[in-house]
Amino acid sequence: MRGIPQPRLLSNPNGLALLFESATPKHWVRMQLPPSVELINPTVRRGPFRVAVFDFDGTLSLIREGWPRIMVTLMLDRLRELRLIAEPEAECATMLEDFVMRLNGHPTMRQMQRFAQEVTARGGIPAEPVAYLQQYLDRLMSVVRERWESLESQRAKPHEWVVPNAHGILRNLQDRGVPLFVASGTDLAHVSREVKLLELTPYVGGRVYAPKDNDASFRKRDVIEFAIRELAIRGDELIGFGDGVVETQEVKRAGGVAVGVASSEAGVHGVNASKRETLIAAGADLIIADYDHTPELLAWLWSYG
Ligand SMILES: [Mg+2]
Repeated sequence: MRGIPQPRLLSNPNGLALLFESATPKHWVRMQLPPSVELINPTVRRGPFRVAVFDFDGTLSLIREGWPRIMVTLMLDRLRELRLIAEPEAECATMLEDFVMRLNGHPTMRQMQRFAQEVTARGGIPAEPVAYLQQYLDRLMSVVRERWESLESQRAKPHEWVVPNAHGILRNLQDRGVPLFVASGTDLAHVSREVKLLELTPYVGGRVYAPKDNDASFRKRDVIEFAIRELAIRGDELIGFGDGVVETQEVKRAGGVAVGVASSEAGVHGVNASKRETLIAAGADLIIADYDHTPELLAWLWSYG
């Protein structure tokens, strides 16, 4: 078609350069990743993709931002009461944070089960994991309820409580005809409520998957396998976005492309260094801090048909 740049592969030494002939043949537009995107895997497959799976907390929503601190503080409090902290407290906190983050993406109950094991390993008698879960949710929910309330009363706008430009990437993918799935380790009733509050329903519709009543057997792997089967596509036609280990590993296991979202807190821009490191170790192909350069990123990812 006249006036529309026709792609021609001119050179591709490292998987980065795809040149587009512009309407004026003298001008060539180099298809490059925006500088805000870090390419970890130079041989990453580039589209087209036929399904996208998003984690929820930290990947789309920031409503639960701060949850690791709340969880680790609770665990420290319980260990301190039981007099089970022999090492310097900062050291103990680092150890707790380490397993909390490694299990990020599994149902929250799994982190509580792991904590109960830690109490036992230190010679204590743990409470039931479900009791720890309740204590954690009590603390977390007092913060989350305030955020719900500010969204419900419209004192806060949905865009203030999502990873920057989350709506933009969902819209762009939807315009490309890509079905969008959400897979979260947070309780389904809460995720469903927050999807609505953040005005994400037009994009993800009913394709929101999360543990019902904190069912510890929920697995993101099952959601990914279900999506691939339902859509009758190949695993390498999957693209996943997540800020945690579990979804990143599961997307790679399925043969898809994993975009690591090293998101920061609400109102803070830039890459979260510790998330970035964890995501790279888990196998992320690319790292982004947010979705501010969505059009360029998706154009690049789709530029080999
Ligand atoms: Mg997350």
